Amino acid sequence: MIVPAGLSYVDPHADGPWQAFVATVAGVAPHLGPLARLIDTLCRPKRVLIVDVPIELDDGSVAHFEGYRVHHNLSRGPGKGGVRYDAGVRLDEVMALAGWMTIKNAAMNLPFGGAKGGIRVDPARLSRKELERLTRRYTSEIGLLIGPDRDIPAPDVNTDAQVMAWMMDTCAMNTGTSATGMVTGKPVALGGSLGRDQATGRGVNVIGRETARRLGMPLHGARVAVQGVGNVGAVAARLFAEDGARVIALQDRASTVFNPAGIDVAAALAHKERTGALAGSPGCASIDSEEFWALETEVLVPAALEGAIDARRAARLRTRLVLEGANGPTTPAADALLAERGITVVPDVIANAGGVIVSYFEWVQDFNSFFWTEDEVTRRMDSILTGAFDHVWRLAASLRVSLRTAAFVVACRRVLAAREQRGLYP
Ligand code: NAD
Repeated sequence: MIVPAGLSYVDPHADGPWQAFVATVAGVAPHLGPLARLIDTLCRPKRVLIVDVPIELDDGSVAHFEGYRVHHNLSRGPGKGGVRYDAGVRLDEVMALAGWMTIKNAAMNLPFGGAKGGIRVDPARLSRKELERLTRRYTSEIGLLIGPDRDIPAPDVNTDAQVMAWMMDTCAMNTGTSATGMVTGKPVALGGSLGRDQATGRGVNVIGRETARRLGMPLHGARVAVQGVGNVGAVAARLFAEDGARVIALQDRASTVFNPAGIDVAAALAHKERTGALAGSPGCASIDSEEFWALETEVLVPAALEGAIDARRAARLRTRLVLEGANGPTTPAADALLAERGITVVPDVIANAGGVIVSYFEWVQDFNSFFWTEDEVTRRMDSILTGAFDHVWRLAASLRVSLRTAAFVVACRRVLAAREQRGLYP
């Protein structure tokens, strides 16, 4: 087993997402042949930028927030990855998210490296004007690293098309260009792509259908539970319901709702939109958040934050298939336990890759200033996603490894081959 060298700015004894990422990378080394000698390059980010983001609050006082942008690996192209606003954002989390982007982009064979950013802030406590000032100052501070051919940010937890519009406008003001290709996930009126807002959840649904078919498990009538009803989880839940599946539970940060006969997903989302809460959705009972993990289902979609399924919850799960809508929702110990229990896990780097595929299309459309129909976007997304999934599925069978290991093998081979062909500068 290759033991990667430590980093002075990461606690070697911590048990967080970065350690989980490195453990997965190190674990695939035996399948990489001679390229395994280069693996240490994936066990450290290429560069890490920590920025102070001071803003004037509406009451005239000044508040400081800590922001990050991490380039994990750029061997295959410019960095690509989202920006997260959350009170729990930490450097090691952003590093792991950037690492997963390297793997995801390579597994999908997109011409991108891996990057990610974030600000440690609870955006719910800021007014819209404060959020705009925060976004603009953060964008200026990370301006050193971003650009259409260097690193292209996108939405993640608690950021959306409006935040991307402010980021794009700030870049445009700072560089004196129109800057449409600086970020993806923008409003369509500003050079965004049709289908981008639905793409990640749609990809989860497409991969769910592909996996269910291979497992011989009909989706019609299948019980589905979804954690997280944001950009990813809400769309996935709606599409599974449209496929005839029974979405029996939805969970967000504040509540968990349950209906064994099947939740009217559109009505629950409309209720949340109207009242701000899932609790009280039509026909639903509220249950304890821990009960969610013991519900009997055919499909479980964690689509909130990393680490949601730890070993304790993995021991209680009663499902056949886990589709990782979120990045890093399963800890390595839980992953091993689920494999032992015969529960299929489709990893994040495949299951939620629909978003970055359409972000890639957005970037291509912006370069060409020529825009595709929504039908073209979804057709091409489905083709890349299902092709990559099929490749990973076959490799997993031939190597007798998990889908996660197979996806990492495919990606690490591509990234390390690029690294070898480029050689070591200088
Ligand atoms: P979002 O901000 O739109 O939604 C997040 C959802 O998770 C909300 O419903 C929130 O209430 C819920 N949540 C947060 N903490 C929770 C907790 N402790 N328990 C239960 N629910 C909780 O974010 P999103 O864009 O949907 O992203 C969700 C996940 O998907 C993240 O891991 C993100 O990195 C990943 N992802 C997002 C995209 C994208 O295009 N937005 C693409 C790929 C992966």
